[in-house]
Amino acid sequence: MKNSNWFQQVKNKIFCFGMLLFIVSCNVQKEENIGNTLITKWFGDKKSAISITYDDGIINQFTVARPIMNKLGMPGTFYIITGKVDGSGKGQFIGRPPHEIIKETAAIKTNPDNFFERASLIGHTGTSEAVEYHSNAGSLFESGKINEAYELIDEGFEKIRNGNLKNTDDIVFHNNVVDTTTWASYKKYAAEGHEIASHTVTHARLAVLDENNLLYELEQSKKDIQHFLGDKYTFSAECPYGTENERVMKYAHKVYPALRNRMPEPYLEELNRSSKKLPGESKKEYVQWQRGPLTNVSMEVMKSWIDTCLTHDNIWLVLVFHGVDGIGWEPKTKEELEVYFNYINKREDLLWVDTFTNVTKYIRKRKNTVISSAVQGDTILVNVSNDLDPNVYDVPITLKTYVPNTWKTALIEKTGKQEDPARIVVNKDTIGSYVLYSVLSTQNEIILTK
Ligand SMILES: [Zn+2]
Repeated sequence: MKNSNWFQQVKNKIFCFGMLLFIVSCNVQKEENIGNTLITKWFGDKKSAISITYDDGIINQFTVARPIMNKLGMPGTFYIITGKVDGSGKGQFIGRPPHEIIKETAAIKTNPDNFFERASLIGHTGTSEAVEYHSNAGSLFESGKINEAYELIDEGFEKIRNGNLKNTDDIVFHNNVVDTTTWASYKKYAAEGHEIASHTVTHARLAVLDENNLLYELEQSKKDIQHFLGDKYTFSAECPYGTENERVMKYAHKVYPALRNRMPEPYLEELNRSSKKLPGESKKEYVQWQRGPLTNVSMEVMKSWIDTCLTHDNIWLVLVFHGVDGIGWEPKTKEELEVYFNYINKREDLLWVDTFTNVTKYIRKRKNTVISSAVQGDTILVNVSNDLDPNVYDVPITLKTYVPNTWKTALIEKTGKQEDPARIVVNKDTIGSYVLYSVLSTQNEIILTK
């Protein structure tokens, strides 16, 4: 009996000592953590990012979808076909006199040496049927059916030589007469916070263009956007038909810093619209998950994409819309867009909705920024630096700094900036007390005090 009491006492003492050690170590861990600063994965420490993108410059995207987004304060990204807009460089063939090439097609079959030149020219021979020959040959070529592509080009030029190619009555989505949006309107939309960016001059199949014509499609489109809207809108682009042709990507990545077609970042996995893989299966730091809400995609499925974003912390959902309210390829109705955008907006405390360009810039800035911090008495100094061009990477990043448990609010001062100090509320997570704040410039010292 005595023995057992003694044993119990020792046991209690060991337990108490253990608890004391645990409490001390917890406090030490928290001490060490003070000043620790990280850049949150997404702006505002949200759970996920969403970019709502539209292709082809369809008029109803601006007159029907845009007002819904404006009402909810959501910026969109619109990839426009610049050759459709009055005042811009039009689609044209750059090369030898067309009659010479057309004459040659009678004597020499299409082969690897002349294919790109002919596929570039045929779309500019003056009929919509000829444009279809260009697009269809491009589609065959990109799916690896090279000989079929050559044969189709031969067939098209034979019809051209015989005067048999016509203008078809079909309304082609990338050359729709009702799409009359002007540069003045685009400028206004950009000022509202939307991204207006390039989808080339004519919506060509870039993979079958020769070098001069390929560069014209990329560079002329960029020039017009630069001229009418400014440099800010030449950051991202989308090459038509979602191409990932290696040759096209090589050229396009030299003209535009970011492409929706493909992102070269090793830390980002890209799941294209056709991919069946679920974003949760990815082990990468970021997953860009592209989904195309086509006409027959149900609201339930579209909502499930949003729900999936909220069950992970690394998904960047990139929605790709085309037609709206009866105009354009695979249109969605106004009512569907209203329901869907409201569904997203109701979760705005968890979802960061921003343009393709802004999300790309945020991720790159986060990955390129070095942070150091020091605690001096009651003050925490945080230093942020990266070597990105501050004129290009002009988006703010969100910092999370751990502060002492005794702080209820923190005063944030940014040096080198004419900005008033801001007082913010301290939050708590499993590690400790912290503050969230955003900084814009690339070189910055931030002073935090109680
Ligand atoms: Zn397109």
